[in-house]
Amino acid sequence: MTHYIDPHIHMSVRTTSDYEAMAAAGIVAVIEPAFWIGQPRTSAGSYVDYLSALVGWERFRAAQFGIRHYCAIGLNSKEANNPALAEEVMDILPRYLLKEGVVAVGEIGYDEQTEAEDRYLRAQIDLARELDMLVMVHTPHRDKKRGTSRTMDVCVEHAVSPARVVIDHNNEETVREVLDRGFWAGFTIYPKTKMGSERMVEIVRKYGAERIIVDSSADWGVSDPLAVPKTATLMRQRGIADADVVRVCYANALAAYGQSGQMGEDDWLSPQPIDQRILFEGNTVLRGQTPRVDDTIVE
Ligand SMILES: [Zn+2]
Repeated sequence: MTHYIDPHIHMSVRTTSDYEAMAAAGIVAVIEPAFWIGQPRTSAGSYVDYLSALVGWERFRAAQFGIRHYCAIGLNSKEANNPALAEEVMDILPRYLLKEGVVAVGEIGYDEQTEAEDRYLRAQIDLARELDMLVMVHTPHRDKKRGTSRTMDVCVEHAVSPARVVIDHNNEETVREVLDRGFWAGFTIYPKTKMGSERMVEIVRKYGAERIIVDSSADWGVSDPLAVPKTATLMRQRGIADADVVRVCYANALAAYGQSGQMGEDDWLSPQPIDQRILFEGNTVLRGQTPRVDDTIVE
């Protein structure tokens, strides 16, 4: 079966049924960037719990259903506008950034392009550079073209190599500049906004497959955790070469985030066998089902 990676998805708010459907569709690995939970956090403590879940429980839950889970850690742009909270979160980030399976600082970037957002974007880019980490950038929904150019300017000003930055949520207006400047260009396939599968086919037809990455960004909104395999299928139906489909729906994400040293093909080509009887800090993924226990490979 063809393998896919969804390098931007918010699994914490998705159900286990999604993991089952994703694994059945060929998704072998996901990257979950830290993000907005839909309402403002009232204290840095809830950030600590959220980040702990990304590197802990969520990683465990994904593995129990056959998917490797990696994450990106960061302060999101909306919450950068609460400086008291932002300062406290900045203090705890380094502790999480160095944990196993963390592939980037992210998702960071602009929302309303305020002064506070700019300050914390720059601070986090500096942190990424100090820790020699990759950066995953969220580009704004409003005034996207300007916000995207501005984010790339900031990366260049802070001496981060474009090859170590993924600019996400691109569209027809931003793709040319992102590719020309040497950054990775992520595309979020959303049912109603951002980018649709049909448009994605045309982008790959026009710009080729180099440095282009497809993701679902599925979260608590109307979104589709199968957007990557579905878009791949449409690309094949529309005559995009298989090698290019593999690049944009698998290999480019691996090449980009593999630079972290935290993510490699071995993780899913020779995985630990699944044993759903295993507990995570005393807790189980079981909800009445017969536990799946795969055979251990005896060497
Ligand atoms: Zn996101």
